[in-house]
Amino acid sequence: MAKKTVYSCAYLRVDLTCPWVKWSNDPNVIREQWLTAARDMKKSIERHCDVESVTIEANTDDVCQFCGRDWTEDNTVYNGGCCNKDEQDYQESISFAAAQEGE
Ligand SMILES: [Zn+2]
Repeated sequence: MAKKTVYSCAYLRVDLTCPWVKWSNDPNVIREQWLTAARDMKKSIERHCDVESVTIEANTDDVCQFCGRDWTEDNTVYNGGCCNKDEQDYQESISFAAAQEGE
């Protein structure tokens, strides 16, 4: 007698790339398209298949809230100036901190 590995369940994995997701140079647009495509696919499966539940699972990434580029820094409020707004917010926070110290 030896241990044997058997399937206890099976899942479907659908990679939502082309043609559901159109290329864009705005990463936020692409991310929103992934979620929309997943929701549409979920509705289609529920409508056409006799299944109890379909769930959407998604990976997460840390990105800049302004431009959507990957977060590359250890700092949680400044992403190294990935975009004008990130740099502007950082400069304003430095000015604010300096003003607080000067009071
Ligand atoms: Zn940015």
